[in-house]
Amino acid sequence: MSWSVTVLLLAIQLVSVSDEIAIGRHAHAEVRRQTPQLADVAVNHYVARIGHQLAIHAPGPRYPYSFSVANYREINAFALPGGPVWVNRGALASARNESQFAAVLAHEIAHVALRHSARQLSNMMIANLGLNFLGALLGNSGGANAAGVAARFVASGAFLQFSRDDEREADRVGAGILGRAGWDPHGTIEVMQIIREQERRDPTSVDVFFSNHPAPQERIARLSQTLPRIRKGRRNSIEFQSIRARLGTLPPASSMVAKTR
Ligand SMILES: [Zn+2]
Repeated sequence: MSWSVTVLLLAIQLVSVSDEIAIGRHAHAEVRRQTPQLADVAVNHYVARIGHQLAIHAPGPRYPYSFSVANYREINAFALPGGPVWVNRGALASARNESQFAAVLAHEIAHVALRHSARQLSNMMIANLGLNFLGALLGNSGGANAAGVAARFVASGAFLQFSRDDEREADRVGAGILGRAGWDPHGTIEVMQIIREQERRDPTSVDVFFSNHPAPQERIARLSQTLPRIRKGRRNSIEFQSIRARLGTLPPASSMVAKTR
């Protein structure tokens, strides 16, 4: 085993759950400063309610999950260390039933629950900051250092880039969370089919998604092998339909692509 692999494995064990939560709280504040949040109480409450119903069924530590809606038209979602989940308005608008939208949230919850961010944090600290910094952070968990690490973490964009293995694991565990929470886990496959269709119709609306996730074809093939053939669970709700209709009455969403170019 190489020196760097050994250090990395050690670092994952050393970034505690409370470190992660402290860093995630600061990262969330940073993202909020940079992101237009959807200003609609009904939609935000709905998204948070679905998110918390799913999070109850997440494995791993009891993280303080939260759910925020970015007022962007593109289909995308991401998770910050220790609980904050962000989903774009475009993901809600593109879903055709509730199980598809819940599948997006369940995938992000799985990234948090599986501590994929702890690995990213370790990578980042080792690559950019060196072990002195890691030591300083760990000696001061929850203190001022967490804010510094969080700012660098958000600036690096690391939270948008998980490894392919982490993505596969989040797909599998996310579908499990979705099923245990009472939705049809096939919503996971359906939402990837929607992303494929959208790619043909309007490639810019899924650009961001494709830059940080494996191709949907591969994910669909893998999930089709693991999900039970017989479908069961909730697929839709009247509330989902009315929330989606409500989105259509709000001022249009902004574009992430226009902002980053
Ligand atoms: Zn992912």
